[in-house]
Amino acid sequence: MAGKISIIGAGVGGLSLAARLASRGYEIDIYERLPECGGRAHIIRDKGFVFDTGPSFVLMPEFFGEVFSYCQQDIKDYLNLKVLDTSYKIFYTDGKVLTVYKDSEKTKQELERLEPGASRGYDKFLKEIGQMYFAVKPLLYKPFYRRDILNPKYWPLLPKLKIFQSYWKIAKKFFKSERLCYAFTFEAMFIGVSPFVSPAFYSIITYVDHKEKIYHPLGGMYEIPKALEKIALKFGARINYNFEIEKILQNDDRFILKSKQGDIDSEKVAVNADYSYSQESLLKRPLRQLDYSCSVYLLYLGLKRKVSGLAHHNLFFSSDLRRNLKEIFDSGDIPLDPSFYVHVPTVTDPGLAPEGKSIAYILVPIPNLEKSQGINESEEERLRKIIFSKVKLSTGIDLEDLIEVEHKFFPDDFISRYNIKNAATFGLAHTFSQSAFFRPYNNDQTFKGLYYVGASTQPGGGLPTVIASSKIVADMITGEAKKP
Ligand SMILES: Cc1cc2nc3c(=O)[nH]c(=O)nc-3n(C[C@H](O)[C@H](O)[C@H](O)COP(=O)(O)OP(=O)(O)OC[C@H]3O[C@@H](n4cnc5c(N)ncnc54)[C@H](O)[C@@H]3O)c2cc1C
Repeated sequence: MAGKISIIGAGVGGLSLAARLASRGYEIDIYERLPECGGRAHIIRDKGFVFDTGPSFVLMPEFFGEVFSYCQQDIKDYLNLKVLDTSYKIFYTDGKVLTVYKDSEKTKQELERLEPGASRGYDKFLKEIGQMYFAVKPLLYKPFYRRDILNPKYWPLLPKLKIFQSYWKIAKKFFKSERLCYAFTFEAMFIGVSPFVSPAFYSIITYVDHKEKIYHPLGGMYEIPKALEKIALKFGARINYNFEIEKILQNDDRFILKSKQGDIDSEKVAVNADYSYSQESLLKRPLRQLDYSCSVYLLYLGLKRKVSGLAHHNLFFSSDLRRNLKEIFDSGDIPLDPSFYVHVPTVTDPGLAPEGKSIAYILVPIPNLEKSQGINESEEERLRKIIFSKVKLSTGIDLEDLIEVEHKFFPDDFISRYNIKNAATFGLAHTFSQSAFFRPYNNDQTFKGLYYVGASTQPGGGLPTVIASSKIVADMITGEAKKP
């Protein structure tokens, strides 16, 4: 046996790490406070409706393939990833709609319709952000430390990464209308930050969305954590559900994990639970001032019938996006006229609802609980009215009238369910000062043998990068990181 490792949390980060290490012969115990795996990538089943509660976009499929091949498994035996012909639809308040297709030529026709000449800008924009993507991609599997800033090896990268530009600024160079600038920067919201603040190199998300396309795992997103859990179990990992770790103590190069079920002695520990929570609550350390991503209000609707006019992914933009971003990220107000996202997975995967019915999952970015008090009943009522009337105006679909089953998720639920500091849905914000060298490291700088895997560590939040963080930690533990 290669060694014994305890992992705190069975989110996608913890599961990927467990699968990797178990496949290399390590003895793995995962401790998860909830009764099931997946963490933020969870599921609700009700009356034949299957709602994925968290992630809905599969971007960068190569990163998913990598963890399966690391474990000598064929991803095709576990996941049926289907590329979407219509990537998404963007609905503007003035009634205009932009559809982004898998086929870039069709997307260009759409762009020309909205802004004559924009298809040339599109090609140039993708070329520029493509250079960033190819510069950044190999680095996503590497740990960075502040001292690396002095390493001349990384200096040639700096101009390529346009570190002094924002996500927004890079789009503004290629598109005239704010309408299109938003269409090419809204992906910043995937990592919970404003495109005006997020550094330009995160536009690699826009690149992969347009160039590598968008995928959906048939059976729903929950197939992903389930597949990782299956591999971990296949290689002998033990997963202890309903098992909350309350404290991590260090003693003579070993760790004691305190829980209601008793003490666990472990040589090495990897924390998948939220980084800030782990520092404050598990290690009882003071936490430095950090910036947090936004939170979200979520509605999961099981609809009485199929709907037409909405794509698998739909974005409804606020009439005043600048004000909307200010409310979410600066003033901490519940948006007056929110932007929101509507996920209709039954467009691609009808089996997620009973015959003839469909699903609409609605996500509204709102301030996190460091900036606001959350959302009260009257604010919720107001948001729902706006959402339902905007969807009706743009598509003719009366969502409210079609509701058969309804579930909701509020910012507070991110704390009570997942222990996420400030209910910051996407973890630590992806600002310049919390990226790469400056993002929390994957290994503890005080306790040898303590590691961090997941969204608020390096390289960052989102499923592909969380999977990459599990490779960084696995390489540290197996010693692969030291190999040239
Ligand atoms: C609404 C939403 C939409 C998203 N959309 C996308 C998307 O479309 N595409 C994409 O790629 N990403 C998306 N993301 C981001 C993605 O889901 C996350 O980055 C990723 O799932 C985080 O995984 P993780 O393993 O880091 O953390 P988590 O999923 O938070 O897992 C941590 C686990 O630790 C457990 N835990 C916490 N404390 C303890 C304790 N004391 N003891 C034991 N267990 C504990 C928690 O219960 C949890 O299961 C979305 C996230 C959300 C919430």
